[in-house]
Amino acid sequence: MKMPLPDDGVIARRGDIVAAMRGIVPGEGVIVDEEELKVFECDGLLAYRQLPLIVVLPETTEQVSRILRYCHENGVKVVPRGAGTGLSGGALPLADGITLGLGKFNKILEIDFYNRCVVAQPGVTNLSITSAVDGDGYYYAPDPSSRIACSIGGNVAENAGGMHCLKYGLTTNNLLAVEMVLMSGEVVRLGGKHLDSGGLDLMGVVTGSEGLLGVITEVTVRILPKPTSARVVLLGFPSSNAGGRCVAGIIGAGIIPGAMEMMDKPAIAAMEQFVSSGYWLDVEAILIVELDGPEVEVDHLLGVVEGIARDVGCSHVRVSEGEDERRQFWAGRMSAFPSVGRLSPDYMTMDGTIPRHQLPAVLTRMAQLSDSYGLRVANVFHAGDGNLHPLILYDANRPGEMEKAEAFGADILRLCVEVGGVLSGEHGIGVEKRDLMGDMFTDQDMVQQSRLKCAFDGHGLLNPGKVFPILHRCAEMGKLNVRDGRLPFPDIPRF
Ligand SMILES: Cc1cc2nc3c(=O)[nH]c(=O)nc-3n(C[C@H](O)[C@H](O)[C@H](O)COP(=O)(O)OP(=O)(O)OC[C@H]3O[C@@H](n4cnc5c(N)ncnc54)[C@H](O)[C@@H]3O)c2cc1C
Repeated sequence: MKMPLPDDGVIARRGDIVAAMRGIVPGEGVIVDEEELKVFECDGLLAYRQLPLIVVLPETTEQVSRILRYCHENGVKVVPRGAGTGLSGGALPLADGITLGLGKFNKILEIDFYNRCVVAQPGVTNLSITSAVDGDGYYYAPDPSSRIACSIGGNVAENAGGMHCLKYGLTTNNLLAVEMVLMSGEVVRLGGKHLDSGGLDLMGVVTGSEGLLGVITEVTVRILPKPTSARVVLLGFPSSNAGGRCVAGIIGAGIIPGAMEMMDKPAIAAMEQFVSSGYWLDVEAILIVELDGPEVEVDHLLGVVEGIARDVGCSHVRVSEGEDERRQFWAGRMSAFPSVGRLSPDYMTMDGTIPRHQLPAVLTRMAQLSDSYGLRVANVFHAGDGNLHPLILYDANRPGEMEKAEAFGADILRLCVEVGGVLSGEHGIGVEKRDLMGDMFTDQDMVQQSRLKCAFDGHGLLNPGKVFPILHRCAEMGKLNVRDGRLPFPDIPRF
């Protein structure tokens, strides 16, 4: 994996940069010691590590603005970082860049029940938002499994999803407004508490922008009243194919469950060993379907779902009786990642999305790839929205095995695109999938996306080396003669 070559000139100016940062962020907010920098050397994509030039931990929007203005004027790169749980390497540091940690932006600024929203600083964890309004019967719907740790700013930057996003939408559907600092130091506000606001609607551009367009310093999110009741039905199938047909049947019947998750046999065995959720070990796939809403509606839909499941050959059914059992059914799925971690010294979490009806074909092809690479794979997926999380098991201590796992992962993502899906469902592109962008987008598409980046960050200083496989200098963009989608000299890296 290639990153932009570090600029020795910037590294030579490290002392000046540290002094300038200390002038903006007093106290312990500037980290320069190598031991302390190590904490920030990677995010959740542990395979890639790099010590940052320095780390700066501002506490106010004004400090962020001054830091970015300084970096803009002095040609210093900046990598924004929330909690560092990202799985695609978006917060991977640069040797000649400042890592800008938002961890000290950790306050909830306003709870507004009248407008059903919460205004929070970006370093607030996802779960803290629900915890702040839970006692009043509200919650924040997007629920990544990392919600105890990941930041709401990182959620916006990645357009994070979760188990309940099938019915209630991803971050983008629950985000009302942001305050963002541009690389020039300018502070902008987009959106508002109300449904529409003046100016261009740029919220969709900023959501999922992976720290490439600006640094988010405030977030306003929608909160929802908690459903009056929720029950889970566990369904066991003799094949993943039958499970896939059940998913199609439920959606086809016009039912949108609160959550609908599927896992295959290796994943089931790992989870059941880790947390006893009562999952059957003699099935090939389990579907967890949560139905929420008024009790009478939930009871009715449970019957309909069970009927659909039996029609496609479901062999085992269990419905949760009470809240404790509902939580117990979820406990295994919630601990999917740590439990699979016990099966193998290392594993790689993939994230691709496919049209739901392609699930059986993709699972079959994935099993063939697993055989040909000689690497095991355990599958968990947000079945309702077609978002797959194949977990590729490998041992990094065996020479060449990590590269093999990466090649296997790339083939899975190419397969997702081939069947009409996309490279990511919720974990973003970062560095992990950067070099696969060409499998999904034409050169022309990517030039257009780069132009958008240039409109926000003309010098390409904000999180360079991420998302785009080729970084064009913004100045040369206008001069490139791209004809019929063909970029001149495509092999020349443009860092
Ligand atoms: C065990 C585990 C389970 C997970 N489960 C899920 C899941 O179910 N669903 C899901 O969607 N994700 C999941 N993730 C991935 C991850 O938690 C999310 O992508 C999350 O949104 C990242 O938030 P963060 O604060 O850790 O961001 P970071 O990792 O720090 O950064 C992620 C990206 O956002 C940018 N960024 C961060 N903060 C800002 C900011 N304030 N302004 C501008 N850019 C910023 C960074 O530059 C980087 O590109 C999981 C991760 C782990 C480790």
